[in-house]
This record gives sequence, structure tokens and C-alpha cells, in this order.
Amino acid sequence: MRNYVAVTNGKISTSFIKLTSMSLTISHLNKRYSNGVQALDDLCLTIETGMFGLLGPNGAGKSTLMRTIATLQEPDSGNINLDEIDVLAEPMLLRRTLGYLPQEFGVFPRQSADDLLNYLSILKGVKDRAQRKDLINYVLDLTNLTADRKKHVSSYSGGMRQRFGIAQLLLNNPRLIIVDEPTAGLDPAERNRFLNVLRSIGTKSTVIFSTHIVEDITDLCTDMAIINKGRLVLQGKPSSVSKLLIGKIWICEIEEVELATYKENHVILSSNYTSSNKLQLKVYSNSSPGEGFRKGEGTMEDLYFGALDDRIEIGLEHYSSPVL
Ligand code: ADP
Repeated sequence: MRNYVAVTNGKISTSFIKLTSMSLTISHLNKRYSNGVQALDDLCLTIETGMFGLLGPNGAGKSTLMRTIATLQEPDSGNINLDEIDVLAEPMLLRRTLGYLPQEFGVFPRQSADDLLNYLSILKGVKDRAQRKDLINYVLDLTNLTADRKKHVSSYSGGMRQRFGIAQLLLNNPRLIIVDEPTAGLDPAERNRFLNVLRSIGTKSTVIFSTHIVEDITDLCTDMAIINKGRLVLQGKPSSVSKLLIGKIWICEIEEVELATYKENHVILSSNYTSSNKLQLKVYSNSSPGEGFRKGEGTMEDLYFGALDDRIEIGLEHYSSPVL
């Protein structure tokens, strides 16, 4: 049971209700753009209640997937179901319960956050002035913008704009929130503030957010997937997928001139200079790669680079296929 603010028919109420779980099932999604790029390639994914991170390099297909779930574009084939809703057949049913924050969030008018949220909540049907005030106080507080509520949104920093984007989508009381690369371009302090906002709304709704920053996932998510070239390469809880590297990480120090040879013979996940100007390599291997190597520990970043490397199949044996 959780204290929960609900807005129903324009009325705001704080009640103790049990948050029901939800399940978003994506099956065999395909999308080829007219320039021939296969942005989604038979993608299957199941997303349950909580904070879900979608990790992948630029061009992996994250935005295409987000826009498709948000019903802003159609796939060539495949299915999306949010519990009992057939999302592609009945997009309006999904939109009623969706909050979507795109990478580029529209135009920022010379209006205060207060005025703009008031206007938007009238548009969303909250007619009663006192209820609007409560609702606006609530979303400003949740997004940490209360102190800046009188400032023009056009004067906000990148991080404040992102948080304002969340504040306005919360006016709908969405069950499903999709946020596309929200931390791109934010400085570390703004990124932290933004992730804290997601953390608090992630206790009340399901949040899917995409990123190419590995720490966003480890800092925040209850569940994650890595996609590359439009395909799912790994899915699981950050705590359990990080175990996939146990016993498979090997470390050695080499001279820089040896790097090309090592690259030919090993799957190198990272290379860093040591204080004595040697290169320390982290190599992926099921058994000892040879003399000079010692056992090491894997990080989420190692897992990410390993999962993107076509030569190995990290975790495929652990990947439990969603609905097929
Ligand atoms: P990500 O969000 O992971 O960076 P995108 O979904 O934006 O990936 O893009 C996946 C691939 O599809 C990329 O190769 C991109 O260039 C291509 N792409 C995206 N949108 C379009 C479009 N409207 N027309 C043609 N190609 C596109």
C-alpha cells in the first residue's frame, strides 16, 4: 500500500491504493525506414512495473522503439500490448495513460512554470482552481522546481527544462512514462537531480527511459535491456546481469606497441593507461587467456561493451525469451 495522488475526472485525491502491476509486451517488432535502415529487427521485450532502462549506442534503435511504443509512429510488423490493451490497434487507449518526454521537448514560451502548468492543467480538464493549485504544487515539488516556479520556462537550464517536461506530463497521472535520452547533455549535478526525480516517480508509475550512459542504468533501474542494431542483446536486473561476468574477466599490463597483437587475439573490453605508462587491458574469456593474465572483476560497463561485441554471446544462455 502506498500513499498515492490520483487525478480522476479533473479531481485530485490522495488515497491509499495498492498500485497494480502492469506488463508491456513487445513482440517481433520490425521497422525499416525508407532509406533502407533496419531500425528495429524482430525486437522482443517484456517490461514490468518499475524503472526500466533501455541501453544502447547511438543508432541502436532506442528512439524508434520509444516512439513506436508511444504510438507516434507505426512499425512494419509486430505487436505491442499493455496488459489487455492492443496498443497498435487502439492507440487512444494507450495515450490516455501515457506520459511521453521526447529528446527534443518543443518550444519554451516566455511564461512562468506556474502559469504554464496552470494553463496545461485547464486543458487537461482540471476545472477547480483549488484542485489545480494542489496538483501544480505536487508536480513542482516532485520535480524539485518549487523555488523556480515564477521564472520563465524559456530561461530554464537544460536540466530544469527536462524536469519541467516531467512536471507537465505528470498532470495526466500517467501509468506508463517514457523518457527518451533524458540525461544527454546534462552536467553531472543536473543529471543527478534529474535521476532523483525519475527515482521518485518510478515508485508510482512504470518508467521506461533510454540512455547510452551506463551509469544511468546502475544508478537507477530495477530492470534493463541492451539493444544494438535494432535487436535485443541482453535483458535482466542490473544486479543479476552483472553476475554474468564472474570468472570471465582477465587483466594484464602490456606495452602500447603490443596492443594490435592483443586486439587480434583477444576480446578487449577496456584499455587504460597505468601510472607507469603501460596499458592495462580487461579481456573477456571463458578461461585464462594465457601467461601474464590474472582474474579481474567485471563492471556494468564491461558487460555493455561485451554485449555489443559480435564475437561473444554474453548472457544469451540466461536470456529468458519474452512472449513469442
Ligand atoms: P537511437 O535512438 O538508439 O540513437 P534511432 O532509433 O534514432 O536510434 O535510429 C536507429 C537507426 O534508424 C539509425 O541508423 C538512424 O539513423 C535511423 N533513423 C532514425 N530515424 C530515421 C528516419 N526518420 N528516417 C531514416 N532513418 C532513420
